[in-house]
Amino acid sequence: MKTHQNCLLCGNTDLQNIPTYALAYLKKCSSCGFVFSERIPTYEELTAHYDTYSRDDSISPITLKRYAELLDYFKKITNLNRIIDVGCGNGHFLKVATDLGFETHGTEFTDKAIELCEAKGIQMQKGVLNPENYDQHFDLITSFEVIEHINNPHGEVDNFHKILRKGGLVYVTTPNFDSISKHILKENWTIVEYPEHLSYYTPKTIQQLFEQHDFKTLKIETTGVSISRYQQGQAQGNTNTTAKDTSSQSIQKFKSSDENLRQKSETNPFFKFAKQTVNFGLNTFKIGDSLKGVFQKK
Ligand SMILES: [Zn+2]
Repeated sequence: MKTHQNCLLCGNTDLQNIPTYALAYLKKCSSCGFVFSERIPTYEELTAHYDTYSRDDSISPITLKRYAELLDYFKKITNLNRIIDVGCGNGHFLKVATDLGFETHGTEFTDKAIELCEAKGIQMQKGVLNPENYDQHFDLITSFEVIEHINNPHGEVDNFHKILRKGGLVYVTTPNFDSISKHILKENWTIVEYPEHLSYYTPKTIQQLFEQHDFKTLKIETTGVSISRYQQGQAQGNTNTTAKDTSSQSIQKFKSSDENLRQKSETNPFFKFAKQTVNFGLNTFKIGDSLKGVFQKK
């Protein structure tokens, strides 16, 4: 088994064990606090893992609405024309951007994803982000739930810097390792999984990463608590095995309870108010499940 000897973020060699997450090989840097998988997955391990990914192309209408709002928000900060979504999945965010008239680019690994995205009018590159594929700079880079899958954060953010124009924006989302869900669910917090996730960020460490690459932090927020994670975590705790219940049927069942709650908070003023209040508290204490950062190239 190949392992990292240094912190992926600051290079420090004093790495502490995290007994709760020993099965996922997690270590915490004693200097900067960054948490990551000490074990380096092989190409075969990663291929076998990602082959199990579902190819479901459905998307919640509420998510599409959020994507349009997000683009509105970026437009207020800077001039927006060329957008790239790194690890764009099935291209739902970029489809919204394409329909709004933006020039859209994406990267993905599988032929199936490339095919789905190209059918949506997105210009695609296969594989990891390669700055040499682009001869013009971007105004906005987005990367939704991607950076937790990689173990070379500096290389990735350095590439972001290369393909972005001065004053351009990066928007990243990733699970929050300081979230209240992690503190409650402990070993049953389903985010921790090898080799699915290799890097685990907090508001502090994500800010540190981007600022080391000459980005200015415009916003860091943590929002939401996923009800499905609690149900999944509970179910896992109850089954009394180490195997995770990740059958697509059971995940679908759990996810539909999240979607029901989202729909209620869209249409019912009481739920909407309750959700805003909860998010305000989660963000104030930086303990929401989802960590979102907006950074600007200096
Ligand atoms: Zn460190």
